Amino acid sequence: MGTALVVASRNRHKVEELRQLLAGLPVEVRSLADYPEAPEVVEDGDTFAENAVKKARAAVAFTGEWALADDSGLEVDALGGEPGVRSARFAGEPRDDARNNAKLLALLAAVPPERRTARFRCVVALAGPGGELEVVEGAVEGRIVEELRGTGGFGYDPLFLLPDLGRTMAELTPEEKNLLSHRGRAMAALATQLRKRFSR
Ligand code: IMP
Repeated sequence: MGTALVVASRNRHKVEELRQLLAGLPVEVRSLADYPEAPEVVEDGDTFAENAVKKARAAVAFTGEWALADDSGLEVDALGGEPGVRSARFAGEPRDDARNNAKLLALLAAVPPERRTARFRCVVALAGPGGELEVVEGAVEGRIVEELRGTGGFGYDPLFLLPDLGRTMAELTPEEKNLLSHRGRAMAALATQLRKRFSR
């Protein structure tokens, strides 16, 4: 087992990705699903880092355990970096991947392929019960395609092309996605820290 580490998210896909990325570390991974009474955190920061730190600290305050939170999203250059911190609710409430993707395609309808550049960005915050804080970041560059491709992943994955592979993020296996995704890269940056802190 080892030290408890609460992944401060209720998003099943995200928790599963993070669980795989944490495999092999001497921590007992929990999520907010294990703490049904934990209060909802309002993600009202202007940056991914603000939101990640806020979520991680709120989880530590509620659980008394170490917590890890990520905030992530898509930045599209032709839209001035939108949807950015508003990625989850780009098409309004309730959050809905299909409507978000439809909105993105509509906004980019007149934009040619070479100007459809974008990146997924992820900031991960690790917070401890003694006030410890570690913040790392990962990003992956790509391009928004003109129609949905693939059934893997979640969110904007079917629209996000990795030009070197010629496949969208939704056309990768979970292992491939973890290796090169923004979240995978941020977690790789954090792994050394985690190992140092949590090795028995
Ligand atoms: P968060 O839960 O506030 O971090 O919301 C991030 C939003 O950004 C998600 O709801 C998705 O719309 C988008 N997003 C973040 N990471 C990914 C990913 O790996 N694939 C596809 N979309 C993502």
